[in-house]
Amino acid sequence: MSLIPHLINGELLSDSARTADVFNPSTGQAIHKVPLADRATIQQAIDAASAAYPAWRKTPAAKRAQVMFRFKQLLEQNESRIAQLISEEHGKTLEDAAGELKRGIENVEFACAAPEILKGEYSRNVGPNIDAWSDFQPLGVVAGITPFNFPAMVPLWMYPLAIVCGNCFILKPSERDPSSTLLIAQLLLEAGLPKGVLSVVHGDKAAVDALIEAPQVKALSFVGSTPIAEYIYAEGTRRGKRVQALGGAKNHAVLMPDADLDNAVSALMGAAYGSCGERCMAISVAVCVGDQVADALVSKLVPQIKALKIGAGTSCGLDMGPLVTGQHRDKVSGYIEDGVAAGASLIVDGRGLSVAGNEEGFFLGGCLFDRVTPEMRIYKEEIFGPVLCVVRVNSLEEAMQLINDHEYGNGTCIFTRDGEAARLFCDEIEVGMVGVNVPLPVPVAYHSFGGWKRSLFGDLHAYGPDGVRFYTRRKAITQRWPQRASHEASQFAFPSL
Ligand code: NAD
Repeated sequence: MSLIPHLINGELLSDSARTADVFNPSTGQAIHKVPLADRATIQQAIDAASAAYPAWRKTPAAKRAQVMFRFKQLLEQNESRIAQLISEEHGKTLEDAAGELKRGIENVEFACAAPEILKGEYSRNVGPNIDAWSDFQPLGVVAGITPFNFPAMVPLWMYPLAIVCGNCFILKPSERDPSSTLLIAQLLLEAGLPKGVLSVVHGDKAAVDALIEAPQVKALSFVGSTPIAEYIYAEGTRRGKRVQALGGAKNHAVLMPDADLDNAVSALMGAAYGSCGERCMAISVAVCVGDQVADALVSKLVPQIKALKIGAGTSCGLDMGPLVTGQHRDKVSGYIEDGVAAGASLIVDGRGLSVAGNEEGFFLGGCLFDRVTPEMRIYKEEIFGPVLCVVRVNSLEEAMQLINDHEYGNGTCIFTRDGEAARLFCDEIEVGMVGVNVPLPVPVAYHSFGGWKRSLFGDLHAYGPDGVRFYTRRKAITQRWPQRASHEASQFAFPSL
């Protein structure tokens, strides 16, 4: 079993005092070991980043962007190799893995615009012979901590932008599926990034705590579950760091009586069961306005859920692979037992699924609950598995109240043909990302991504314009060049025009 190395200062290194197993969830077998960095290893990465920073900060933005152009090409050339690695360690299908990479590459394309996005704001003649401008300067050494469910895309939300803004970056990817993340970082070095500007250090809580506690690390971007997001936000901001911490979700789709139900069902199937429901934007609750909508929805969903093609993620033409670990599969199964005990109707039960040839894989079939009510744990908590809950309500207002009362506010959508209903929904819903007849409203790279309520801790969303603001600090400069012949007297009152 090979040991997946860290990438520090352009070198592949392993410290193997503590390690964790990396599984292929389709076979259930451990395939690699990953080192869990200690404080000294994290400090090595910080030192490398601190040493690289002065020169990188001074490198013109257009030169930094040229590295990103080459990086984009290398990512495209290596698409199938990266998708294979994602699929092997995460379990998602190859097509889904390739899709995640494409959405990640969008962020590299956005970063290619560095000279444009870093242009400051300029005002001439704000006073006699005085000009003023705002400059957007890098923060220094910044770090990112990422989850297992998008090992390629989520890191690409962070470091391409941080780096073109002139920062040096330390990435601590998920220890569950780190191989694709490492390969992508190696491609950025191959594209010409100076050593030390990006390091990848594997690890668990100990590594994250070392990053939080290091005074040289000026900002932390986190994506993962809400309890850890809250912890990192509290500990990071307490130490004066800038922190954006994106957390968990429970995303509702509202089905109005006038919706195009067949199209809504197709959309829901992908949004609820794609990637085995292990997406922070997955739809896990279908809120049906009226019993007629609910009955029709359930009867259309059942045959499609039963027909889901499930197998090893690396096989072609599948709808769903396994869950990421056996422990997670058991946790999701526990929620199904809990829902049944709480009185919800389990219409499709995906437990006990065996995939021929991969009997030890962490598989679970699609599950559907009807008549779920808001006090049930399966409604309140993020399950992060292939489980869709149908909740029945009587009006759009009741649907919106339900969503607004939920602790999470990451994504939501409405299926309707009624523009007035859609407009009200967009105006009043307490959720950060909203779709109208779009089930997974993940913003494109030139907008920003982030939820509301307990789905995000911090003020700025990820990537896009908010990402630029997060990875830079504004400096306001006021400059006067007095005319040679003039002498200006001291002024003791507060300066004004
Ligand atoms: P996780 O919170 O378990 O882990 C995320 C990262 O935090 C990993 O790098 C992990 O090593 C580290 N970590 C774990 N425990 C820690 C601890 N005690 N202290 C410090 N660091 C720790 O999340 P996960 O299981 O990898 O990912 C799934 C979660 O991520 C879901 O809740 C999902 O909704 C969320 N997610 C959110 C978004 C979003 O944009 N809001 C996107 C993707 C995933």
